[in-house]
This record gives sequence, structure tokens and C-alpha cells, in this order.
Amino acid sequence: MIPACHKAGTQLPACFSHCAPAQPEHHVPPMLQPQETLLHDISTISNTCHNGMAVAIRGSLRTLCTRQRAVTTTSRIMEKTVTLSTAELEQAPAEPPSLTTALSRGTAQAPSAHDAASFSRTQNTASGFVLSARSDVFRRRFYPEVSQKTWSDWHWQYANRITSLGVLGTMLGLSEEEAGAGTGLAALPLAVTPYYAAQFDPHNPAHPLRRTMVPTVEEWSLNPGESADPLGEDSHSPVPGLVHRYPDRVLFLATDSCSAYCRYCTRSRRVGKPCAGSASRRRWPAAIEYIENHPEVRDVLISGGDPLTMTDSALNHLLSQLRRIPHVEFIRIGTKAPIVMPQRITPALVRMLRRYHPLFMSIHCTHPDELTPEASQALNRLADGGIPLGSQTVLLKGINDNVPTMTALMQGLLKNRVRPYYLYHCDPVQGSAHFRTPIYKGVEIIRGMRGFTTGYAVPTYVVDAPGGGGKIPLMPDYVQGYDGEELVMRNYEGGLYRSYDPAVPLAAHNVHNAGPAGCADGDMPCL
Ligand code: SF4
Repeated sequence: MIPACHKAGTQLPACFSHCAPAQPEHHVPPMLQPQETLLHDISTISNTCHNGMAVAIRGSLRTLCTRQRAVTTTSRIMEKTVTLSTAELEQAPAEPPSLTTALSRGTAQAPSAHDAASFSRTQNTASGFVLSARSDVFRRRFYPEVSQKTWSDWHWQYANRITSLGVLGTMLGLSEEEAGAGTGLAALPLAVTPYYAAQFDPHNPAHPLRRTMVPTVEEWSLNPGESADPLGEDSHSPVPGLVHRYPDRVLFLATDSCSAYCRYCTRSRRVGKPCAGSASRRRWPAAIEYIENHPEVRDVLISGGDPLTMTDSALNHLLSQLRRIPHVEFIRIGTKAPIVMPQRITPALVRMLRRYHPLFMSIHCTHPDELTPEASQALNRLADGGIPLGSQTVLLKGINDNVPTMTALMQGLLKNRVRPYYLYHCDPVQGSAHFRTPIYKGVEIIRGMRGFTTGYAVPTYVVDAPGGGGKIPLMPDYVQGYDGEELVMRNYEGGLYRSYDPAVPLAAHNVHNAGPAGCADGDMPCL
């Protein structure tokens, strides 16, 4: 998911976007870095590019250096930001209530009071992006010199990601657990776009969106069953950057960068590392060649990292390479950008993507509070572009592990034309135990949704088997067993129903056969 070679809302030279589509991790956000650091970064980037591009890049240095004036201005903005007093923070207008707040007050209504409050004061900016009241309050408070237009530019959002607890602490009241995370982060850096930070409850460390992005000391623990690569992806990787675990499809890790880092990320061992963008790009030729040489591969999932952190031109290049392979029938992109950086979904991006149909997109989303006016606009732009959208959600303790929240999320996604797809049990990646629920919790949630809401809104709950076993779906057990020539089933309300079904021998069914007595007692071995 990424490209941070765009700074302060300006476009990189074309040569740059070709040779290094995803350089975000290479740069300290300009608002935080001194002039010398930026010059060093520019030189380093020049040195790491392909020879053929080096001349063009040097020619572009003047443009980049000129841009430093904007960087310096942004730095001043940050200086102003970090000196805001507690009193100033307290005087800020009240935030629209989040779903979490509503739930704690017992006033939650699907999909979210947060949405309603934000939508009611949403503005249309000059650049064609909507801007919710919540986001605009945050912009005015912490980035007063940044215009609405600049705020709505994804390059600015990406370049100005918040990457230090010190800066984040000026915007939120950090808890002891958050403040103590410090430099003890083992693998995953901190990064969150200003837009997404605006959605956090600054006074509540338990706020769901905040918990997914702000590190805590709990990440330092290595717990039983956890590992750096719980899905065994590295052992199913025939060439760097490609995972071939299923017969007819591959996972193409296009970049190791994201616009925001989820604290439970399965790939925390690899995402967010320095130079993640350029290193990822160097893996592409071998990965494409592997796909060309394997005609059984008909489906390519482009993920990372987040592919939508790459520039349009880099993504266009990759998609065109894949589309040239005759046996690649189907391309998918996995991304969280519409949720954490909805400004990325520009009309130009959608125009480019629609050239590569059939192209699907899997949207990583976690909580109904993410479905802001901005995210809604992004999702609807994609849907209007004819891109089928599916969702992927990780079941997270204290964040979305209850039926009302999960139902609100899935119903909210449907309203934005996103079909709920997978609900994942949280993978046992190191330092993630505080996010993980018991496996049965997911089954309970599915049981609480199936039949009670639209079938389209019910995702498939899966456990990604440790070691590379693939996704294993888990369902509430509605089949109770056979009683003679009748199949006994339990419906969503718990009632038992029988269906005359004499033709198929019992042995052909992979179902329980505990008999009618067990059914009647309700003690069948259901999940
Ligand atoms: S879960 Fe996805 S968006 Fe989040 S850090 Fe991992 S790769 Fe990036």
C-alpha cells in the first residue's frame, strides 16, 4: 500500500515515479526533518536509482530543492503544532461522538452516531474531496496553515504522516501504556496519516481506531504460539516478494510500505522498513517472470504493504505487466488506503484502474467509525469505476469483537457498496496477544449476525492456519445430525427443524450423528 516520494503536495518528476514508485519509508516526513536530512535523502535516492534514471533525477534535484521552501513552511507549522498548550486543546470544539462512546452510553445505533454527526456538517472542498466537520476541526487545530485543498491531497497526507509518539502526544493525551511504547517497538514503526489521526478520540486510549494504530508496551511481549511469520509466507515464497500457497493464485507483495501501520499486522516483520519502496520494486521482474512461467496462476492478489501508496504510474506499470500475461484472468488489489487515506482515491486513479478489468479490490476495514464521509466518497468513487469491492476485517479484542459493532460495520460497508468478504481470526504475529480473541468468539459473532441481518452483510469467518495451511472457514454448526431419514437442523433463532432427506447415505455427509436425543437436549457438539 504506498509512494512518499511526493512531498508537500507536489508531483515528482515523471522519471522518479518510474524508477522508484514507492519510496515513502525513505523519507522522514518533511515537517519533521531538517533541511540537511532532506538533502541527504535526495542524494541517497539518486544513488539508489537505476543508472538510466540517475541523470534525470539529478536534473530534478533543483525542483526538489525548490520545494524545500514549502517543507520549511510545513516545519514551522509543526513547531506551532507541538507547542499547543493543554488549555488550547481543551478549548477545542467537541468531537462528534464515536460509536464507542455511544456504545459505552448504551445509545449506539447502527451504523454509527459518528457518521451522522460528521455527515451533517460535511463540506465539499475545491479539489472535489469532501471534508467532514471532524477532520476540519482537527485540521484547523493542528495544521492551521494547511488549506483544505492541501489537506485533501494524498501526497500531503502521506508526506506528513505522524511518525513519532512525541508529535502524537501533542494531539492526544497518551496513556501510560502508549507513552511507554517509546523506542521499544520491535518490528513495526509508527505511522498514521493526519486524516486518520483526526478520527481518534483524543481523550480515550481505548478508542478502537486509536488502538489499532497507536503502539503500547503490550507489543513488547512474545506470547505462546506467536511468531514473526505465523502464516509461513516466507517458506511459500518461490521468489522474493511472491507467495504461492494456493494452486491457482499468488500473492504479489508489490511494496513493503503503508500509509498507516496496523499494530496487529501479519507482515510486521517486513513492512515499514527503511527503503521499503525501492527494495520492493527491485523484486518485481523476478516475480512477474515466475507468473509468466506458471500458467496455472490465473489470479494475482497485489498487496504488500499497501499498493495504493505507490504512484499511479508505478501501479499502472505493474498492472500492465500483469495484464500482458495471457493466463492471468483476474487481478485483485488489497488496500487500506480508502480507509486511512481516502484522498488517495482520485478520479485519475480510478480512470487508470478501470483499464485493467476484471480488477477487484479488497478493502481492509476494522470498525464502523472508519466509514467517514471521506471514506464513503472514496469507496463510492471506486464502485462507480466498476471495481467490485470486498472487505477484509480482522477480529480484534475490545475493538470489534461484539455483534452490534460487527453488524454496524458490515451494514455500513454494504451501504457503500462493499461486500463483506472475510472476517479473520487475528493471526498470532509476535506482540499481538492483546488483540486476539478466543477463536470461538468469531463463531459467536457470525451466529449473532446470520439470519438477523442481510445475508450479504455476513462475512466468512476464517482462521489462517499457522505454518501455511491456508484459510479455514469456521461456521456455527447449524446441522445437528440425521434422525432416520431426516436431517435435523437448527435455525438462526435456535429452533430445531427436520428435512426429509432419505436419498443420500449418511456416510456421504460429513456431519455429526449424535442422534435426535442430543439435538433435543441442545448439547450437540456445535461450535
Ligand atoms: S495490515 Fe495492511 S495496511 Fe495494516 S500495516 Fe499491515 S500491510 Fe499495512
